Amino acid sequence: MGNKIVLHICCAPCACYTYSELKREGFSVKGFWYNPNIHGYREYRRRLMTLGYFSGKNSDLELCEEEYDCGGWFKNTGVFIRPERCRSCYRTRLRKTAEYARKEGVNAFTTTLLYSKMQDHASIKSIGEELAAEYGLDFLYRDFRKGWKEGIEMSKKMGLYRQEYCGCIFSERERYNVS
Ligand code: SF4
Repeated sequence: MGNKIVLHICCAPCACYTYSELKREGFSVKGFWYNPNIHGYREYRRRLMTLGYFSGKNSDLELCEEEYDCGGWFKNTGVFIRPERCRSCYRTRLRKTAEYARKEGVNAFTTTLLYSKMQDHASIKSIGEELAAEYGLDFLYRDFRKGWKEGIEMSKKMGLYRQEYCGCIFSERERYNVS
């Protein structure tokens, strides 16, 4: 597999444990930010700035920021109810990650989404593997959820902004139970 990997980063708090684990395994990590699922725009900027702070503290983390294609996210998602909505969302973000890895000549990718206990872990794994096969890459599967508590402690220690909802407008509504 080689020791370079592209890590799709959904947010800085989820990157804490994931990134440190990959480094512990000897990977040289290229971070990739592509999250057009984050609504509204100020929330998006806040999470991106938090990642900027995190990468400033981890100077060996290379970071690529992809454009905020919010309109494309709505178009690709199509169905706005769970679980289809989340599967489309994972696919959109991981496809862009696979494209980036191929463009950069890195043959493996993974995602911080595998850290979250709130996400559909099995779907992320199967979509990652399916896209890896399509793009001729490896999808590095790890169950990063085992570091859930450690990651939270790391993010708190760094004083990172920790968001209250997953990202899309629908998840915000679900979080606050507004009818
Ligand atoms: S809840 Fe999260 S994973 Fe699901 S569609 Fe919204 S932003 Fe994407």
